[in-house]
Amino acid sequence: MYFYKNEFIHKKDIQISPDDRGYYFGDGIYEVFRVYNGQIYEGEAHMQRLERTASEVRLQLPYNNEEIIDIINKLIHHNNLIEGTVYLQITRGEAPRAHPFPAQAEPILLAYCSEVKRPLSTIQNGIKAITQPDIRWLRCDLKTLNLLPNVLAKQAALDHGVQEVILHREGTVTECSASNLMMVKDHLLYTHPANHLILHGITRAVVLRLAHALQVQVKEEPFTTEQLLQADEVFITGTTVEITSILLIDGQVIGTGTPGPITQRLQAEFERTFLQ
Ligand code: PMP
Repeated sequence: MYFYKNEFIHKKDIQISPDDRGYYFGDGIYEVFRVYNGQIYEGEAHMQRLERTASEVRLQLPYNNEEIIDIINKLIHHNNLIEGTVYLQITRGEAPRAHPFPAQAEPILLAYCSEVKRPLSTIQNGIKAITQPDIRWLRCDLKTLNLLPNVLAKQAALDHGVQEVILHREGTVTECSASNLMMVKDHLLYTHPANHLILHGITRAVVLRLAHALQVQVKEEPFTTEQLLQADEVFITGTTVEITSILLIDGQVIGTGTPGPITQRLQAEFERTFLQ
């Protein structure tokens, strides 16, 4: 069961117009929610980010917060979802192709859930990554449908036989194609500040809270790709990847080549907080 344009509907019955501005311009915004034990993870934080993105791109949300949460909960319920994700996007609506905001169009909300298991194997065994220039625009804090640079980066990773791309702007590490990045050096946890150059990840914020609780000192400071390669531990954070170690970057082994102690403590604390 999906939700599209004010109704719960089967996927096969959804009719999407070619005039949807999501197609012409990527003119829309989205969120991916995680569901653990049938419950939305960090729902409020996702809603705040959705509202902020909507306001920054001047898109009027068609429902208020409670109504959106209610739609998500109904989808979870209708689909008997225990563990998975809910994808939700809102486009600026349907109108003949022209750049200015259409006078008449109503924003359109699409939402559905998918059964997605936790990526236990990569959480335990880590992943490999390559670095690449960050070619995105200067509002990476907004969660919009314009994901072509992220798509190209992710495909480049797969083409190189690795799972993720670490993006940098002239040598300063920002984040990854679909996750935030953190590194540990001399027991300090470093990550790029939450400004316009990265997405303000929900799990990034959770991990910084957990680090604080575990008395790991956090430095929200930019660092370079050279510093990254010298790190003791490197990991990514994200709603679907949770906390996943990166063990090899551009062919170079990071730390001991196994998930590091601070990464493991954070993942254990994450599980204790959200999964028990
Ligand atoms: N950065 C980018 C570019 C992403 O696409 C994602 C995943 N949505 C993240 C970071 C992680 O954000 P979150 O923790 O909210 O999933």
